[in-house]
Amino acid sequence: CVTLVRAPRQKHVTVAETVLLPGDEAIVAPEWVPYRERIRPGDLSPGDLLPVADDDPRLVPTYSFGDDPLDADEKAQIRQVAKDLGLGRSRTLSPEGRELAAQRWYDGDGGPSAPIAQSAPDQCTSCGFLMRIAGPLAETFGVCANGDANDDGRIVSLDHGCGAHSEVRLAKKHEPQPLPEPVIDDLDSSLIESF
Ligand code: SF4
Repeated sequence: CVTLVRAPRQKHVTVAETVLLPGDEAIVAPEWVPYRERIRPGDLSPGDLLPVADDDPRLVPTYSFGDDPLDADEKAQIRQVAKDLGLGRSRTLSPEGRELAAQRWYDGDGGPSAPIAQSAPDQCTSCGFLMRIAGPLAETFGVCANGDANDDGRIVSLDHGCGAHSEVRLAKKHEPQPLPEPVIDDLDSSLIESF
């Protein structure tokens, strides 16, 4: 793209500037994505803060302040009463937040479609290392507690699985073969004695 210019009261046209414009097949920068939307699991470092929006649909209030308008002190008193009563957290997972987590876990490395589960000899539901969880997801997920497994300490679906299943047994041909009797090479020891 060339910009031509003719200065006032001048006869000659001159080139003011030239720029390159991207064609259909040019490599151009991707669309700008705000930083908040770029964050992925694993991006947080120690000390980083990631505030959650007040209207995040994954969370719902554990208790209500009622319909009357309250100032900050009155809300603080209600929070203290809720704490004394053991209501605990001010917000908890909403059904939507729970559904999103369950779908993410099921589709991820702890679900039935993970490559390690596809070739597993059996499923987590029959594994002695599966720790059951309470709550609405108990019928679908548990926690793997096998320190030798890739999923140790992680949520796994009951139809996930891996080769470290508690009931896995090696076929006879895969079992370690007993070692032969050791052969003592006394050549060196006789040399040592001669010294
Ligand atoms: S060891 Fe393997 S099969 Fe057993 S619970 Fe863990 S992931 Fe599931």
